[in-house]
Amino acid sequence: MAETFDVTIIGTGPGGYVCAIRAAQLGMKVAVVEKRESHGGTCLNVGCIPSKALLHASERFAEAQHTFARMGIIAQPSFDLSRMMAFKQEAIDGNTKGIDFLFKKNNVSVFRGAARIAGPGKVAVGGQMIETKHIVIATGSDVARLKGIDIDEERIVSSTGALALDKVPERLAVIGAGVIGLELGSVFARLGAKVTVIEYLDRILPGMDGEAAKTFQRLLQRQGFAFKLSSKVTAASTDKTGVALTVEPAAGGAAETISADVVLVAIGRVPFTEGLGLDEVGVARDGKGRVVVDDHFATNVAGIHAIGDVIRGPMLAHKAEDEGIALAEILAGQAGHVNYEVIPSVVYTAPEIAAVGRSEEELKAAGMAYRVGKFSFLANGRAKANQTTDGFVKILADERTDRVLGCHVVGPMAGELIHEVAILMEFGGSAEDLARTCHAHPTLSEAVKEAALAVAGRAIHA
Ligand SMILES: Cc1cc2nc3c(=O)[nH]c(=O)nc-3n(C[C@H](O)[C@H](O)[C@H](O)COP(=O)(O)OP(=O)(O)OC[C@H]3O[C@@H](n4cnc5c(N)ncnc54)[C@H](O)[C@@H]3O)c2cc1C
Repeated sequence: MAETFDVTIIGTGPGGYVCAIRAAQLGMKVAVVEKRESHGGTCLNVGCIPSKALLHASERFAEAQHTFARMGIIAQPSFDLSRMMAFKQEAIDGNTKGIDFLFKKNNVSVFRGAARIAGPGKVAVGGQMIETKHIVIATGSDVARLKGIDIDEERIVSSTGALALDKVPERLAVIGAGVIGLELGSVFARLGAKVTVIEYLDRILPGMDGEAAKTFQRLLQRQGFAFKLSSKVTAASTDKTGVALTVEPAAGGAAETISADVVLVAIGRVPFTEGLGLDEVGVARDGKGRVVVDDHFATNVAGIHAIGDVIRGPMLAHKAEDEGIALAEILAGQAGHVNYEVIPSVVYTAPEIAAVGRSEEELKAAGMAYRVGKFSFLANGRAKANQTTDGFVKILADERTDRVLGCHVVGPMAGELIHEVAILMEFGGSAEDLARTCHAHPTLSEAVKEAALAVAGRAIHA
């Protein structure tokens, strides 16, 4: 007689594994199915964690090269890419093993292999059939491909191949000026690659606040990045010496050739549902291939739910995690909920760029009246002491109520600073609330307080 579970989760990325742990905490009998060798999905194996390990290591190298001498530290840094990659692998292993431990601790049953939904309440894995009350699709996403450009993971790589290069390319062409392209471009630029980013749109980081993105582009150019905006790659030819990319103006016109040793295709990600048998069970998907869910993460088929990159919304690990928690609570009869208005996003470059809530462009498009409070790190004591003064904090508040609607930070530790505004927004707080909260001195956080003061035109150090 087959074992029966309360919930079976397909995929153990940040969405799936967090959903499993929360469901187990709530007393459910939980199974997970994973086709990869290690848990943690894209994020831990080929995404957030390895990219951050390489960003960390390469940033320390760049600091040692460019800023140590100014601080009186004499060093002659060099690097060994294979050891840097081993450091990255240790980060992956440490994190993925942590999930094995958490699954054991919470009595989550693990099935290895590719799952197929055989019908409501039935999940097939290899020769086994799992009987379950609920099914959660948490199968994540895959690299988006560009027509006519074949990813061979050697000369033309996806983020996965870029994270495993055995040599720093002299010339790296990055197709796509989104988060992944700029982060991995930064890693290799710091290690000596000449990086050219080709982007279809007329700006970098689509979706981020325009002013923050422009400032950030200037800072990246200062670090040696070259940008070809409003341009499309139409063909690539590879030989032993490298890749020749045919690049045309997005609006049409004469083509030019950009030569590179390695090309990184970073034009985004697409939902992954291959082999799940969704057509057979009738689970609806939208035009972009995403599993369609209602506000409670339920698909159109009773007992089948979905979370994370495979459904609508930003493709971010913490969004997937929060959906996993909310869904587990809903399945347990509680009121699980995700506030999509307050999902921070961070680009982990140097400086970092972080955002939460609405951008100026979004507020304008929505016809909302707002006030801007902006404060430069040039006037922040701690940033001055550290000589990391590039960037600013910008707070956007409702003109009538002063409620904070968004925050955009370009600068040191932006990815940490953004959370004080995220929490404020969760509580429906105002710029005044933030401005009247005592902040320790000297901290970078004081720039956030000053930006809040600046909303009412009363920043002290500006
Ligand atoms: C280079 C890179 C850097 C990134 N950096 C960040 C970052 O800094 N911060 C951030 O928030 N996000 C980042 N992301 C995005 C983040 O990785 C994803 O948003 C996140 O992993 C989505 O989680 P998920 O659980 O929905 O899916 P995934 O993490 O994609 O996990 C899905 C899992 O399902 C498994 N699976 C699929 N089909 C089946 C099947 N039929 N049977 C069994 N198992 C199956 C897969 O093997 C996989 O392990 C990055 C992504 C990349 C590529």
